[in-house]
Amino acid sequence: MEIKKILREKGVVGAGGAGFPTYAKLKQGGIDYYIANGAECEPLLDVSKGIMARFPDRVVKAIKTLKDFTGAKRAVIALKGKYKHAIKALNEELSKTGFDIELFQMGDFFPAGDEQVMVFEVTGKVVPEGGIPIAIGAVVNNIETLYNVYGAIEEDTPVIRKFITVGGHVKNPITLKVPVGTTIGWLLDFLGVDYKDKVIIDGGPMMGNIVDPSSPITKVTGGLLIFPKGHPAVTVKESDISRILKLAKIACIQCRYCTLQCPRYLLGHDLEPSKIMLSVGFKLTDGYIKQAMLCCECGVCEAYSCPQQLSPRRVNVILKRELAKAGFRYTTDKIDIEPREERQWRKIPTSRLKLRLQLMEFDRPAHLVDGDFVVPPEVHIPMKQHIGAPAVPVVAVGEKVTKGQVIGRVPEDKVGCHVHASIDGTVVQCDEHKIVIRGEDAKW
Ligand code: SF4
Ligand code: SF4
Repeated sequence: MEIKKILREKGVVGAGGAGFPTYAKLKQGGIDYYIANGAECEPLLDVSKGIMARFPDRVVKAIKTLKDFTGAKRAVIALKGKYKHAIKALNEELSKTGFDIELFQMGDFFPAGDEQVMVFEVTGKVVPEGGIPIAIGAVVNNIETLYNVYGAIEEDTPVIRKFITVGGHVKNPITLKVPVGTTIGWLLDFLGVDYKDKVIIDGGPMMGNIVDPSSPITKVTGGLLIFPKGHPAVTVKESDISRILKLAKIACIQCRYCTLQCPRYLLGHDLEPSKIMLSVGFKLTDGYIKQAMLCCECGVCEAYSCPQQLSPRRVNVILKRELAKAGFRYTTDKIDIEPREERQWRKIPTSRLKLRLQLMEFDRPAHLVDGDFVVPPEVHIPMKQHIGAPAVPVVAVGEKVTKGQVIGRVPEDKVGCHVHASIDGTVVQCDEHKIVIRGEDAKW
């Protein structure tokens, strides 16, 4: 079967972000750079480094396959120079295989893993506003996505597991593999993590959001971090959105720190969060409001820059939703974008970020433990875990399913990826939003 078909059939989506279907990112011809994103710049998360150090053979083989498929002139693994174990393992694998893949060592700054920041660091070219890397001849995939590409192509395995780091205010941080659809509360109980009266963040402290323990782990869950309520890493996240919007109107002192440190502004994009804050309450058609579409939600303005504890990031999230509902698409005539000169000295050192968010006490390695030892009694599998059309259930309540079986299909003419059963069991609930499978050994 052709590679793109396999990846769609096996449900491979971007594991490190919004879940863009991987097959839809691939193009044959006209590609200069194939980039594997191993920067993992969010503090406290250890998934990419763990996979690179533990499974360099899978990562390197998947890169070679996609480099050959796209015809990319160069293939690069971009990661931080401080990831010594991963660099050693990858170098050994590259010497063994002789594949023409380079390691690109980045500095320890935030957000080194932002796709557009990384593309600029590697290629020296800025992705146009509102565009994707392919616009300048680059394809970027994250490391866990490549792990899954290997599984789909070399082992005929669909994506039914997710690697996550469980960290923060926990006794023993860990990175482990969990069946897709496992509920967060069940997993934390299984691991003996006390999360009562605490805040659970899905993802890292910068870009992550507060999540409910009843939510399932999906193909894009970034990690689970536990924090005491009121901790500096979560105070703004805990504020409700009406308060965020009210404060945006009355408490912004227009100091512009958010703009001056915004990574996308520094890349040369027309994104000035301070001006968006000034325009909150204006019409959606206002010129500055539209800039919200260019925000990558990195969290620098919210967690690092603003002296007033405001959240341009969350304001942008709301504006983006409203603009999308109104059918707005960002367009621009600008082609050759130059980064702002000050970019080189405005990169935020991760060490300073950790100090600002008071993360030092939680900053311990979360070593990757391999194996399928997490077997939940039931899984709640969402039909939409990716960008594009949701999958449509192809099973019914009462039906027995086996691990890896397709339970939701995306119509052929729509962008999206199929969804698979992550455990053996019986379908006990099935609707357009999710399928619940109860395991064979579940005791109820
Ligand atoms: S979250 Fe803030 S700093 Fe990050 S891209 Fe958006 S506006 Fe810029
Ligand atoms: S940093 Fe905060 S106070 Fe300053 S302009 Fe931005 S939102 Fe306003």
